[in-house]
Amino acid sequence: MNRKHLRNRAAYRVGPVAQSLGWAVALVVTLALVMPSMAQADRTLLKPGWNMFSTEQDVEMGQQVSKEAEQQLRMLNDRRVDNYLNNLGRKLAAKAPGEKYPYQFKVVNDRAINAFALPGGPVYINRGIIEAADNEAQLAGVIAHEISHVALRHGTNQASKASVAQMPLAILGGLLGSNSVGATLAQLGAGFAVNSILLKYSRTAETQADTMGTQILYDLNYDARAMAQFFEKIQAQDQGGQPAEFFSNHPNPGNRIENVNQEIGNLGGARRGYNTNSREFDDIKRYVRSLPAPANGRQILSDSGSNDSGQQGSQPDWPSNRSVSVENSLLRINHPDNWQAHGQGDAMTITPRGGMVDDGNGNQALAYGMIVNIYEPHQDRYGQQLQGPGYGQGPGQGSRQDAHALLDQATDQLIQELRQSNRNMRVVRPHEDISVNGSDATSTYLSNDSPLGGRETNWLVTVQRPEGLLFLVFTAPDRDFQNYERAFQQMLYSVRINR
Ligand code: ZN
Repeated sequence: MNRKHLRNRAAYRVGPVAQSLGWAVALVVTLALVMPSMAQADRTLLKPGWNMFSTEQDVEMGQQVSKEAEQQLRMLNDRRVDNYLNNLGRKLAAKAPGEKYPYQFKVVNDRAINAFALPGGPVYINRGIIEAADNEAQLAGVIAHEISHVALRHGTNQASKASVAQMPLAILGGLLGSNSVGATLAQLGAGFAVNSILLKYSRTAETQADTMGTQILYDLNYDARAMAQFFEKIQAQDQGGQPAEFFSNHPNPGNRIENVNQEIGNLGGARRGYNTNSREFDDIKRYVRSLPAPANGRQILSDSGSNDSGQQGSQPDWPSNRSVSVENSLLRINHPDNWQAHGQGDAMTITPRGGMVDDGNGNQALAYGMIVNIYEPHQDRYGQQLQGPGYGQGPGQGSRQDAHALLDQATDQLIQELRQSNRNMRVVRPHEDISVNGSDATSTYLSNDSPLGGRETNWLVTVQRPEGLLFLVFTAPDRDFQNYERAFQQMLYSVRINR
């Protein structure tokens, strides 16, 4: 802005000096040459924020979570619509600055107005968006907005921030030392779930996605106002009723139209002859509207009933009496069939819907559910005793009491580690000897601040394994812990350790 101003002043100063026609022509030519680069210079430059993951890990994470997503969502799986969407999406993605991701665009067979993107490229558009858009530019606007979340790495940026911020139980097993995307996802509870940290953006991220989305539309010669117009339209339609689902993951930052208009100004102002619609869009929209209505059923993202208004004080579903089995590299465990397991490798989180909550700082924290992982005690302090030749080798190599003492020591060390990121955590019922699947184990009860406010109980169970200390943490707010304890105990009884 300032620069433009200076140039204008300079032009006026030069103007009177330019007495001959030749001077004036030279000036016009100079300005014409300068203008395009000025528009570039005023473009808002956006770059991804701090990130502990590599861009390759974004792609890996997105692919992993997309598998989970597509199991839970009803996909439209219509080649004609998917082709149209991919052609449009690829053109838009080609205009996104920075890293080139393997974008993929798919339609979800859901009439709710929603769209989301996963790190590294997968973009999902509900059929409701196509049905609600007035023209191709509006649909392109939603896609450009989602592409911008990918290009700006908003999902993994949030996951990164959550993992270093003080977050109950997040640091289990040395998160920062872990290179496993699966383990990290599990520790963050960051799979494909309502309020997943990968999907729920901050207002700042929304404004950035609007700005970059505007640039993408502009560069592809679409009416760049269309995106904000569409968001305003779906917002207005919902006044008095439920807000469009879109806003549950993409909170309205306010001033959308002004922000977009300002960026259009930065880019050099509205273009003449921009595209608003295509016949192809009208055909596809008519076609999608003619497709059979999606069957009613549970749709993970349309969880507007229990989870729309933040999570403070919300109560997830009670553990179901039916159980399903899940297995990872460490163990097999049964869990209530209305809970979900996330993760791979050593780390796994099993939570009811709504069990992961926002801690108020934009971080996802475990309020209800359990975590399983392996902890490697520091070699310098206990390693020799724990992993030396005498440990766990049966009679003659140290007594059962010794084994228990060592297990308790390793458990204490884990608790010390947990306290680093959970300052108000304290032991309320120290080590009790129990057995898990025939192995000696220790049970410890801890009290901690709940991310829902108030206190929570963490039931920590540890088992010594050759690869380290296997631990399970069962968590619920104090007021609910008794109600969940039976389910937790059943889960523990069902554990079969991989040997
Ligand atoms: Zn968004």
